[in-house]
Amino acid sequence: MRLFFPDTPMLPLPPGHRFPRGKYQMLREKLIGEGIVDERGLVASPVAALDDIARAHSRDYIDNVMSGDLTREAQRLIGLPWSAELALRSRVVVGGAMEAAREALSNGASGQLAGGTHHAHREFGSGFCVFNDLAVTALALLAEGAISRLAIVDLDVHQGDGNAAILGGTPGVIVLSVHGERNFPFNKMASDIDVALPDGADDEAYLAALAPALERVAAFRPELVLYLSGADPLASDKLGRLELTFAGMIARDRMVFEMARRLGAAVSIAIGGGYADPISDTVEAYANSFRAAREVLRV
Ligand SMILES: [Zn+2]
Repeated sequence: MRLFFPDTPMLPLPPGHRFPRGKYQMLREKLIGEGIVDERGLVASPVAALDDIARAHSRDYIDNVMSGDLTREAQRLIGLPWSAELALRSRVVVGGAMEAAREALSNGASGQLAGGTHHAHREFGSGFCVFNDLAVTALALLAEGAISRLAIVDLDVHQGDGNAAILGGTPGVIVLSVHGERNFPFNKMASDIDVALPDGADDEAYLAALAPALERVAAFRPELVLYLSGADPLASDKLGRLELTFAGMIARDRMVFEMARRLGAAVSIAIGGGYADPISDTVEAYANSFRAAREVLRV
């Protein structure tokens, strides 16, 4: 399996900032260390063209991100201070998502050790998300005619408000979001399928809610599944509010991959959020998703 990663400088953040920026390098080392991917299978993500990003974002917003003209309020919504590193990384994460999706269409499965920036809206960023990688990818692939139907299966614990807002009503796309009902974002946007779970939902409740939602996705017969495999439903996640075990998370991943295998659909993974204490739990859950992809999709 070939996977992509953003080979960009570490984001400069103020001391004590809660964004766990070290998790990406930890994941990379774990995937190689455990033989889930070999070093040659890890490819640096390309920088996305601004014209592609403009499929999902306004030119004004893109210009403000690239030039550092985001207002203080716009940066507060994103939750990360603007820096040249952030602008570059945001662009590269979109490039990685696009490249991973193309790789998945060629070879069955791929993914990026980043991405899943599902809170980014057309005119503004939010919740650590600047540009919406999967919305850009979906719109680009459909515009190019690479595929005619794709699904975004968003199992990050936070609702994919940006995906819903940007992609709502787009022919050829179905968006599923399974998330915590009382969690961020507090102003949720309607996806094609939304499954809102109560605080404290456990493995059994989660999987029971996921199965029929995936059946509805399968009925759409997507040729490509963009799987946002957020690690934040895990019990030890500080922002998650759910109580999934590692075993429950793996069962969740396998359910998605088994649906794709049954349909003959390609799968591209974006890792999404994860804020566990310790952060190694998040990294473990991310790695388990890639391991399950290899096992179920035989890549
Ligand atoms: Zn999240």
